Amino acid sequence: MRLSQFHLATVKEVPADAEVASHKLMLRAGMIRKLASGLYTWSPLGLRVLRKVEHVVRDEMLRAGAIEVLMPSVQPRELWEETGRWEKFGGQLLKIKDRKEQEFCYGPTHEEVITDFARNELKSYKQLPLNFFQIQTKFRDEIRPRFGVMRAREFLMKDAYSFHLTPESLGETYKVMYDAYSRIFTRLGLEFRAVDADTGAIGGSASHEFQVLADSGEDAIAFSDASSYAANIEKAEALAPAGERPAPSAELTRVDTPKQRTIDEVTAFLGVPATQLVKTILVRGRDGLVALCVRGDHEINEVKAAHLPELPDDSELASEEEILAATGARPGSLGPVGLPESIPVIVDRSAALLADFVCGGNQDGTHFTGANWQRDARINRVADIRKVVDGDLSPDGKGHIRLARGIEVGHIFQLGQKYAEAMGADVLDSNGKKSTMYMGCYGVGVSRIVAAAIEQRNDDAGMIWTDAMAPWRVAVCVINPKNTDPVVAEAGESLYHELSQAGVDTVLDDRGLRPGSMFADIELIGIPHRVVVSARGLEAGTFEYRARTDSESRNVSRQELLALLG
Ligand code: ATP
Ligand code: MG
Ligand code: MG
Ligand code: MG
Repeated sequence: MRLSQFHLATVKEVPADAEVASHKLMLRAGMIRKLASGLYTWSPLGLRVLRKVEHVVRDEMLRAGAIEVLMPSVQPRELWEETGRWEKFGGQLLKIKDRKEQEFCYGPTHEEVITDFARNELKSYKQLPLNFFQIQTKFRDEIRPRFGVMRAREFLMKDAYSFHLTPESLGETYKVMYDAYSRIFTRLGLEFRAVDADTGAIGGSASHEFQVLADSGEDAIAFSDASSYAANIEKAEALAPAGERPAPSAELTRVDTPKQRTIDEVTAFLGVPATQLVKTILVRGRDGLVALCVRGDHEINEVKAAHLPELPDDSELASEEEILAATGARPGSLGPVGLPESIPVIVDRSAALLADFVCGGNQDGTHFTGANWQRDARINRVADIRKVVDGDLSPDGKGHIRLARGIEVGHIFQLGQKYAEAMGADVLDSNGKKSTMYMGCYGVGVSRIVAAAIEQRNDDAGMIWTDAMAPWRVAVCVINPKNTDPVVAEAGESLYHELSQAGVDTVLDDRGLRPGSMFADIELIGIPHRVVVSARGLEAGTFEYRARTDSESRNVSRQELLALLG
């Protein structure tokens, strides 16, 4: 590829709502452009990276014996009624109608469609096991799309679904997928952990999430490198011993509170822009009143504490449903905050909404869910309700727990018979008897991986790609301002050809830019290897080579260069 004939459109300024490094850099490099909330166009540059990820994912899926299909994005309501998910899936399901008033959704996932496919296609146990996968666009109407393609509404997922006669066969394929996922993320050069996860609403018996380690991650994970222990925080807490915590109080009571505060007053007080406020929780602690300003969509991730002179007044307690709607918390994740004699209050954007439940407690950047709370218990300091702590002995006793933030890039499930049963997906077994199939499902966030990789590898100059994900492995930069020197231009072309012929994925920067701007672009877009062709180098018979991670460049001969990059 010649950059003079490509559309590379780097920019200096990025919108203020770009909070994390990957979002900023993807916009600066012109990899993505925003169309509307959670909807992005992948530019030619961005698409090259996305395709690289897709390539590795497809390659490993095929290697693991999965076979590719492609299902529609638009799915009929009737199928979703069969599993009860037309209602149960909730607000993330985008529902649409055609001209005949027939209802559809834009697929957030494909269990229903693939199970329908399988019940029609598969008749005999002899056809099993089978594992179908696709790489396809999903739509989820996320409560708070953010961080660019990290939490988008439309995004690219690799989803696979396996079908089995027995749970043992499902277990075998699950293991094969676990290994395939490990290979995918290793090949992409990501630092990740596979963590034990709750099967939650999807049901089933086993589940693992693949989490890329990054401080900006929305998830929390607990693991020990000295042993094989690794779990997401929900699972870690669910399995942690209960200790001497007070019994949860399910009862809601009316709270006597003084004056109500508007969201404007709260944001002014906290000094946080209203756009960053998803919800504010006001709690009364023993030392007076504390406001927790909370950002994040499905979990409380960031907290700013401050003392408020008084509590909002005279409001009704909200029901659990209202709180779920106002906070976007996951059903089942609500637990009272664990401050002494606390009376948590949730304020939504428009009016004050009082609640007796919040999603958990926070301290020092750690989020705790499932906290128990008893109205008159005095021991509920956050430290007391924390179930899993950095440095705890891991459950297997072989190491100490480290708490870290993660970005969920993959998720595998043993679904069991849940969908097959609901939709009547069966085959004849060896005795000629109808037998409901067992299923597994396996997702990879293909587009999210691009952002996650940037979170993990970047510096002041820009992104730092591994060879596997780079838009191009090598950039041949021709120093020939305004393209006035035909000899240098020709030398650049010739090297570019030679590298390309040798199968090296190379881009020729023949734009005739001044070196400063050219190098800034090439560093920003994170090309792993840079070769400079200049009049001075040609005279000396050398090229200047620098890896993106090197601090200095060095002069190498043509032969050395080919050996280095070949
Ligand atoms: P999250 O917890 O981040 O909302 P999820 O658990 O809802 O993700 P899954 O249903 O497990 O997601 O989907 C499989 C994969 O799809 C996830 O592991 C993630 O990598 C990716 N994914 C899910 N939601 C989004 C999104 N809104 N934008 C980009 N990728 C996503
Ligand atoms: Mg989700
Ligand atoms: Mg998740
Ligand atoms: Mg998941």
